[in-house]
Amino acid sequence: SREIHLVARPKGEPKESDFAAVDVPVGEPGEGQILVRNDWMSVDPYMRGRMNDTKSYVPPFKLDEVMQGGAVGTVVASRADGVPEGATVLHMAGWREYAVLDAKWARVVDTSIAPPQSYLGALGMVGLTAYAGLVRIAPVEKGDTVFISGAAGAVGIIAGRVARHLGAARVVGSAGGPEKARRLTEEFGYDAAVDYRRGDLEGQLAAAAPDGVDVYFDNVGGDHLRAAIAAANTGGRFAMCGAVSAYNADKPVPGPDNLFLIVGKRLTLRGFIVGDHNDLAEEYARLAAGWLADGSLSYEETVVEGIDSAVGAFTGMLRGANTGKMLVRLT
Ligand code: NDP
Repeated sequence: SREIHLVARPKGEPKESDFAAVDVPVGEPGEGQILVRNDWMSVDPYMRGRMNDTKSYVPPFKLDEVMQGGAVGTVVASRADGVPEGATVLHMAGWREYAVLDAKWARVVDTSIAPPQSYLGALGMVGLTAYAGLVRIAPVEKGDTVFISGAAGAVGIIAGRVARHLGAARVVGSAGGPEKARRLTEEFGYDAAVDYRRGDLEGQLAAAAPDGVDVYFDNVGGDHLRAAIAAANTGGRFAMCGAVSAYNADKPVPGPDNLFLIVGKRLTLRGFIVGDHNDLAEEYARLAAGWLADGSLSYEETVVEGIDSAVGAFTGMLRGANTGKMLVRLT
């Protein structure tokens, strides 16, 4: 079984040499444990933070050990009640082909309503992030204009769908490049798209949201946050979800220079971590299952093959190589 270790803390953009693929024997489950063959693993932006040796809401990855991350797999041996062989489980022992883990850390998922890997995306943490952000952190009200950055990414596509379900009158997204911008409006249900690589983000946003922005879902930070503050209406609500434009920065990135507008516009900017909102998971799962069934939550995936492609999938994702959820298929 092959697994990926972090062997050096990346400076700036991670390099292949910061990681090593290591072959290890397949383990055997002890009492209360399961052996899982990972079929899919997730690469997520927050993992970049865990590669640094800094204090955060999740501890750093340890050097010369297998990394962790979301994965979905098939139970091939079980010594745990309630998790039978053949079950499909969601767990956090990714970045490896086979994992032995305590059954209590695995959740059996229902593959009759959606394919297994959707539990790493639309039906999992990604979907709940979009939902919590737009119902609780920056609640969408009927008739709102909602602006979402990183709109063609995993969270962004779902956030656009959720905003629509919550009654937004206009949903505007930004993404990098003309092809992603085209797909936002033609395939992912957005009303208007901004291609930030074309420049003049503020001018493009003003044209795309002529009535101003009531709710901003920030995946990107930096220039996008500045533009959203400039476009915000009085009383605007901002869900501060991520700042992917700065994750590979090797020194602190200056903040927007128009923060003073927050005062006069009476804006609320609120950060959140999805793990604090698991109380919404059941409600979201029920809604999402219905929306998947009626086609109103269609999502997108970018899939790369094999554990040896995992590092490239991760670094590519931070550069925008993905549309929708970036996934590694292991079997
Ligand atoms: P994505 O699928 O959105 O992948 C990352 C995307 O970031 C890329 O596809 C790329 O799209 C975009 N990007 C990279 N660099 C820049 C840049 N300089 N400016 C603008 N866009 C850039 O990842 P996720 O959907 O998984 O995550 C989206 C955000 O949500 C991240 O910030 C992540 O940290 C955050 N998040 C937060 C959670 C929380 O609990 N708060 C939970 C889950 C995610 P493009 O081609 O358009 O540039």
